[in-house]
Amino acid sequence: MRSANEQNPPVAIFVTNAVVAYREDVALRGVSLAVPRGEWLGILGPNGAGKTTLLTVVNGLGRLLRGRACVLGRDISRGCPAALRRRIGYVPQGLRIDPRMPISVRDVVRLGACGRVGLLRRPRPADERLVDFWIERVGLGALAGRPIGHLSGGEQQRAALARALVQEPEILLLDEPTTGLDRVSREEILELIRSAHRERGMTTLMVTHAHRKAAALCDRVVLMKEGRLWAEGPAAALLREEVLDRLYGAEGDGG
Ligand code: ATP
Repeated sequence: MRSANEQNPPVAIFVTNAVVAYREDVALRGVSLAVPRGEWLGILGPNGAGKTTLLTVVNGLGRLLRGRACVLGRDISRGCPAALRRRIGYVPQGLRIDPRMPISVRDVVRLGACGRVGLLRRPRPADERLVDFWIERVGLGALAGRPIGHLSGGEQQRAALARALVQEPEILLLDEPTTGLDRVSREEILELIRSAHRERGMTTLMVTHAHRKAAALCDRVVLMKEGRLWAEGPAAALLREEVLDRLYGAEGDGG
């Protein structure tokens, strides 16, 4: 029988010496990272640093060439079982949906419930209530029946977040969740993530280029460059102009 610690380990994510390559492009060059349960970790760094690739290692979609990844007590280095993937919510960078796709906002959000109950099983009334709850909470109540492709980029981003939260994940992976949003939407989405993170005690990993927001929200940050962890520590200590100038080569985006 597995001990309580194995089922509920204090470290939610444990990555050791991860190497990932896309053919000849090496995206991660030996990354090691431990994320305690309940932490909100910011992941920052220049374009192409490997931030998205690191998220794919955690959600089991990235293939490790070398190294090891353990998530919620399971070794996923050789693949992530569907049951574990359901415990991990993923909000990718931009949904890029064809406007002719005949699926509604509600259908998209309901996919998160399918993640929970299994693709071929019907969501129960309780799942439908959860779908309604999150559609309202992300501010899409009036648009629930509209084709997803007819929504603006910011509205699609809200739908993607609702889909992930309907899944009631223990780990939430966010890839630039506020990129392309106007100021008001950005604040609203981040506030929503903040309250969901707290209420549900999730472990949240957020890739972002918004340094000031990350400094205000994240418990800890890792800075990545050229496929490596360049620095890690408390947000307030690392997200300072002189550090960011060195990371980006004096072209940091202070967003
Ligand atoms: P950004 O801030 O631009 O989103 P990132 O830090 O998230 O960048 P990744 O998307 O992880 O970076 O990419 C890391 C490296 O891997 C880049 O050099 C990129 O070109 C390469 N890469 C990413 N995905 C693929 C892919 N599917 N096929 C080939 N190369 C890829």
